[in-house]
This record gives sequence, C-alpha cells and structure tokens, in this order.
Amino acid sequence: MDLRGILDEIAAEMATRSERGAPASYIPELARVDPGQFGIAVVTADGRDHAAGDADAAFSIQSVSKVFTLALALGKLGDRLWTRVGREPSGLAFNSILQLEHEKGRPRNPFINSGAIVTTDAILEGSTPRETLGAILRFIREAAEDDAIHIDKAVARSETAHGHGNFALAHYIKAHGNLRHAPELTLGTYFHQCAIAMSCRQLARAGRFLVNAPTLPRLVSAERVRRINALMMTCGHYDGSGEFAFRVGLPGKSGVGGGILAVAPGKAAIAVWSPGLNARGNSALGTEAMEMLARRTGWSVFG
Ligand code: GLN
Repeated sequence: MDLRGILDEIAAEMATRSERGAPASYIPELARVDPGQFGIAVVTADGRDHAAGDADAAFSIQSVSKVFTLALALGKLGDRLWTRVGREPSGLAFNSILQLEHEKGRPRNPFINSGAIVTTDAILEGSTPRETLGAILRFIREAAEDDAIHIDKAVARSETAHGHGNFALAHYIKAHGNLRHAPELTLGTYFHQCAIAMSCRQLARAGRFLVNAPTLPRLVSAERVRRINALMMTCGHYDGSGEFAFRVGLPGKSGVGGGILAVAPGKAAIAVWSPGLNARGNSALGTEAMEMLARRTGWSVFG
C-alpha cells in the first residue's frame, strides 16, 4: 500500500476546502490559530512514520490528553477508578453538566470534561500538581520517545482565565464528594495537561502504545489497551462518537485544538489536525481526513 501517496492525496484535497469549521472560541489562545492548516501522520506497526501537510506544526492537544491521563489513572488505581467515573457514552456535549445532577456527581465516562476532571483528580492523589504534570509529560514523552514535548503555558493561562464552565463542573462534583482536592488544584492540573502541545507526527508516535503490535512500544497491558480503545470508540467524540464510529470505524479521541488521535488495532496509530471544528466540537476536516484514510486503507475494527 502506498501510504505516503494516500496521505499526500488527502492533504492536497484538504488544502482545497473553503468550508473548514471555526477554531474553538471559548479559549482565546485557540481562537487565534490559523484555520488554514492541516496535518496528518501515521505510524505503522513496522515502526515507520508517514506524514503530509502541516504534520510537524505543534498544536494544543486539549482533550486528546484524556487518553494519556486515563492510562495513567488506570495504572495508579486499577479498576477502583470506575467507582468514581462511568464507562457509558453521554450523548451530550463535552462540557455538559446535565447528567451530573441525576447521577450524583459521578461522570458518565473519562473523556467528557467532568470525567476527565475526576480522572486527573485521581492521579493527583498523594502528589502535587507539579509532580502530577511531570508524570503526565513523562508518560507522553516516553510514549513518543521525544523529550521536546512541552506544555504551552499561554494556552493554560488563557483557559484558566475563561474556564468558568469547568469550574462549575468541578465544584458540582466536589459538592457530591467525588473530588478529593480543591477545584483550583485539580483544574490547574487539568488545564495544563490540556495545554500540552504536539505535532501530528509526535501525537501519532505517542499513540503507538494503543496499537497492540508486538513491534511497537507497550506502556500498558494489552487488556488495558483494548479497554482504552473501547472507550475511545464509544465516548471519544462525545455526542459525535456514533457518527465517528459509523464514518471512520476506528477508536478515536478528539480535542478542541482540532487534533484527533485514532488507532487501527494491530496496524497503525494515526494523528490528524485541522483547527476548524464542527458543531460537536470535533475537527471538521480532521474527521473527513480520517474517513478518507480508513476508506483507502481498508482499516476498520468492524471487519
Ligand atoms: N480544555 C478543554 C475544556 O476543558 C478541553 C475540551 C475538549 O478538547 N473537548 O474545555
């Protein structure tokens, strides 16, 4: 298969698009990003990377970070994590507070904001925010084998100054006794984890541990990888998860920075980035590019 050729064709096609969606506006630093950009990178089971477009431009990974913090939280707490956060899709927006009242402060899953806040709060147990962020960065750097990966402090500051919705979620969870730390402490850590900057090439490399290929680095057990992938498939795109499964057929996790990490089990880790979002807060062209790639490679978990 001529993967390089396929990626070049996808990037060329995306360069022609005038309808690109709009960058997230509720985090002012993200609103300034040029929506004309598009990057794609794939690491195959033989360890080789293939990339096209702006694959080496750094972007804010935002909610894609929730995959790495979930892996860390499961490593630290094991199945005890599930007493605090569920495993069902929410069918609601990533930042919704609606179900929290009915479900008494136990978020539906670790990929919506409320669930990711609880997951980060779980990793914080026994450490300072600085140590916890160090552990998150270490995990990602080790996964990608790249020590240059860093946190974009301007993005973290920008979100902290405008993060009222997330403060509301954290306080509400705290009111139900499901947050162990002060909301400011947990959210300070969460906003910095979301502000990690990576390129598509770095993100695809960091995603290799989810491929479950004997040739690629393994940071967590094969069984745990399957479960993280299951949650990415059912919850990774919030209320757009069904649509992503239908169109792409691979587990994926999106972020409001416009990045998506997807996994073709046994075959490849894929990262795409385009800052313009669709109505559900997932990258508009990123989703299309994933769909094109899945169709041309035949990669799917559904046969
Ligand atoms: N930091 C963002 C927020 O909490 C992450 C959301 C996202 O990427 N969907 O709102």
